[in-house]
Amino acid sequence: MNITFYGAAGEVTGSKHLLEVGEKKVLLDCGMFQGKFSEAEKKNRFFGFNPTEIDAVVLSHAHLDHCGSLPLLYREGFRGKIFSTSATRDVAELIMLDSAKIQQQDRSFYAELEGREPLPPLYNEDDVKGVLQLFDEVPYHKTFSVVEGVSGYFRDAGHILGSAVVELSLIAEGRNIKLGFTGDLGRKNTPIIRDPEYMVDLDILISESTYGGSKHESFAEARRVLKKYVKEAFARKAKIIVPSFALERTQELIYLLHEMIDNKEIPRFPIYVDSPLAVDITEVFRRHPDCFDQETFATFGRNDDPFGFRNLEYIHSISESKALNKQKGPMMIIASAGMCEGGRVKHHLKHSIDDRNNMIFITGYMARGTLGREIVEQKPEIEIFGEKHKLRAQVIVLNSLSAHADQPALLDYAQNCGDNLQKIFLVHGEDNQAQALKEELLSLDRGFKVEIPQMGEGFEL
Ligand SMILES: [Zn+2]
Repeated sequence: MNITFYGAAGEVTGSKHLLEVGEKKVLLDCGMFQGKFSEAEKKNRFFGFNPTEIDAVVLSHAHLDHCGSLPLLYREGFRGKIFSTSATRDVAELIMLDSAKIQQQDRSFYAELEGREPLPPLYNEDDVKGVLQLFDEVPYHKTFSVVEGVSGYFRDAGHILGSAVVELSLIAEGRNIKLGFTGDLGRKNTPIIRDPEYMVDLDILISESTYGGSKHESFAEARRVLKKYVKEAFARKAKIIVPSFALERTQELIYLLHEMIDNKEIPRFPIYVDSPLAVDITEVFRRHPDCFDQETFATFGRNDDPFGFRNLEYIHSISESKALNKQKGPMMIIASAGMCEGGRVKHHLKHSIDDRNNMIFITGYMARGTLGREIVEQKPEIEIFGEKHKLRAQVIVLNSLSAHADQPALLDYAQNCGDNLQKIFLVHGEDNQAQALKEELLSLDRGFKVEIPQMGEGFEL
């Protein structure tokens, strides 16, 4: 039995881990690499293994860096089954279709800019439709057969809608190993979805380490800060622009605002969700109350819609979106993309960024080199669509809304997946984060062997 790491090794994107059990090959996640175009393109085109030889995929959740290369795997000949929860399949459909569309747009844009033919996309809409036929939906807490010698079991990961930690029982060569894969591990007490669950009786753990060297503030703190600034914005009739990831973060914000308005903690004021993808994903949330936690039902009851309230409007058309530019505050516009690198949020920033009265709420991670990062760093001048704009709006960073477990939570998790746990592979973290977590894991004195795999590195199990 072997495992080889073909992505998220020493970095946070491109999750892809290949298990070989007897004659069978099972892929854990098939995510896309994200980052600088040329580098990501090269990494995404080269799997490092033969897609036609993969017998099955087990998918932890629907973030692009975990599911985004599935249509390419299909295009290159993979025809096995893909096991995921039902909500993961539904969200993955939207994420993969959106990715196909963006690839097309980006390539055309750069080709026009450089006066050449566009590069072919990694995959198109037909590949997405093809790969969707291979999904086999599995509920949480039910054993399923992946291939001969491998069975799986999903528990809540508490990361995004539908996300799962994956327990796998591997039987081959007269041995029986229990391997656990966190996918991305969420946090306790996040809005909407249930808390992460520990895995049981593991021998080996593959753990994410995104924030392996960091500690988050609590959600209660995020809520307090959000409330404070919304009240201030209301008092001075500000426009609040919120660049937000369409998946999970947008729904969490809506949920929190809904709850605070119902409790009369903040005044009622116009809120707009201006992201076609976020609108579609919110629809998937509505279809999956099976993933909600008890607090959500206690707060909104079984019949109330957590994602709809009187002063909240979902914006569909471009003309409605443009009309928002002329509207006066107080108001909030939640728009994609998350790092301000495209989508409608750029237009809203262009129209609001140089007004001292306005606010920009930063709710997620902003990678180096993105427009979002320049805003976080409060550069005095920001370039949007080739024009320079003074950054005068007030920038508020809400760091504590992260969807990932931090170091204390990752340490707690590793210590509560059974007494047999011997070996831990740390993936999905930049080197300094994974290294910091490794040191802490070793200092627990539990006899753990900890590896930080390199890209393409294989291990015997
Ligand atoms: Zn994720």
